[in-house]
Amino acid sequence: YFRDLYTLSATLDTDVSGEQIIFINNEWVNSASGKTFPTINPTNGKKICDVQEGDKDDVDKAVAAAKAAFKHGSPWRSMDATKRAALLNKLADLVERDRVYLASLETLDNGKPYTAAYAGDISGVIGALRYYAGWTDKMTGKTIPVDGPFFAYTRHEPVGVCGQIIPWNFPAALVAMKIAPALACCNTVVLKPAEQTPLTALYLASLVKEAGFPPGVVNVVPGYGPTAGAAITNHPDIRKVSFTGSTEVGKLIMEGAAKSNLKRVTLELGGKSPLVVFKDANLDEVVEWAHQAVFYNMGQVCTAGSRTFVHEDIYDEFVKKAVARAQKRVIGDPFELKNDSGPQVDNDQFEKILELIESGKKEGAKLECGGARLGDEGYFIQPTVFSNVTDNMRIAKEEIFGPVQQIIKFKDMEEVIARANDTEYGLAAACFTNDIDTALTFTSRVEAGTVWVNAYHKSSVSAPFGGFKMSGIGREMGEYGLAQYTEIKTV
Ligand code: NAD
Repeated sequence: YFRDLYTLSATLDTDVSGEQIIFINNEWVNSASGKTFPTINPTNGKKICDVQEGDKDDVDKAVAAAKAAFKHGSPWRSMDATKRAALLNKLADLVERDRVYLASLETLDNGKPYTAAYAGDISGVIGALRYYAGWTDKMTGKTIPVDGPFFAYTRHEPVGVCGQIIPWNFPAALVAMKIAPALACCNTVVLKPAEQTPLTALYLASLVKEAGFPPGVVNVVPGYGPTAGAAITNHPDIRKVSFTGSTEVGKLIMEGAAKSNLKRVTLELGGKSPLVVFKDANLDEVVEWAHQAVFYNMGQVCTAGSRTFVHEDIYDEFVKKAVARAQKRVIGDPFELKNDSGPQVDNDQFEKILELIESGKKEGAKLECGGARLGDEGYFIQPTVFSNVTDNMRIAKEEIFGPVQQIIKFKDMEEVIARANDTEYGLAAACFTNDIDTALTFTSRVEAGTVWVNAYHKSSVSAPFGGFKMSGIGREMGEYGLAQYTEIKTV
């Protein structure tokens, strides 16, 4: 692995240590504004490199390229579905070839442990590309009998130019989750990575070109949300926007999409997911699941199990074991293979989490362990566990997006389901029990797009993913994810 861009560049043919630039029409171009922004290494707070700052003019250029690539008769629109599959598979091959570089870049830019980036995130990129490669020639319609001698048939047609805006918690994996289904359906794409973590998206862009995708099919414009992001949302030639990020920004996206041209929207937003431990659960196993549910990726997971409800009969024992488990977590330099956790992604997140921890203390939750920064450089936070948490505390209501476990007591099923559902969010939920009736009742009544039984954070590119209520609109992944990238035409 490579701890800095200098050694990474020395190993690669391409120079990735210089100023990262914008990818439009299969070319690397400078921003129209001439502005750049720094991307920061969260392990030490120092600049990794500057990145060209895309704004409205750059988005306009990218959209023009994507629109031209989408025209009937263009190389992309005339390409056989099997060739589109071959391109997606070729891209997956290149990601496999460069897996070490991509994982290194992800760790450098985001701070996640190298082992997780290599085994988890980059596998996710490869998996999504290969899975959707398999769909390109399988989007069949239906034949429907109509009155008399007539019949209708349906065609699944691409939507057009798709805008895609992603956050910083799984930067490379989210690029693949967005572009793969869009390209499988023959759309073209303008993607904006998060300003905190633009590097792997730019690296993937270079592989898109190397794989042989025609110019304009994929365009990557790094920049800030209110400028480049808003330009995507409001662009009249973009017909669909797929956004992953906060609920707050999700609302802005939907508003902009409605006002500009009624773009189709897919929104994957925040969560405050309940993880419910019934008294018959296997305690030692649950403690581990519940620990990973909230501490994986330094807590920066939209589906984090951030409200841990535990039955009163086993509450004290659970708290003791959860604290012991949290204290065993090894935190430090994300390039050290022994470390389970690295830093939070940036100073804003770091301060927001510490402020929420303070609010938990002030509101009367019991701080069992952690609760402060770790070390004196970078954005590291101690694994933190609170007990005696009540539903009205901020730490039980707001998305913390950090390594902070809230353990809440409950008495019975009716009560805990009502409390689990008492949130504006509905992204994920889990129950731990050995009783089938309890599991079936919970899974049918909890309001969440994903529900686990005796497990957490299990996901697959073939299974749909998305939120109820204010956790989102639409589904990604699986066959359902494809449907979001086609229009159905009845002939
Ligand atoms: P964010 O909403 O602030 O930013 C996400 C992206 O939106 C970034 O690329 C940002 O530049 C862009 N953006 C910001 N303002 C914008 C605007 N006005 N117009 C257009 N784009 C704009 O989110 P964040 O804090 O960076 O990421 C964390 C959030 O993402 C959490 O709430 C988390 O739950 C959510 N998330 C959800 C999922 C999911 O699949 N449901 C997955 C990962 C993260």
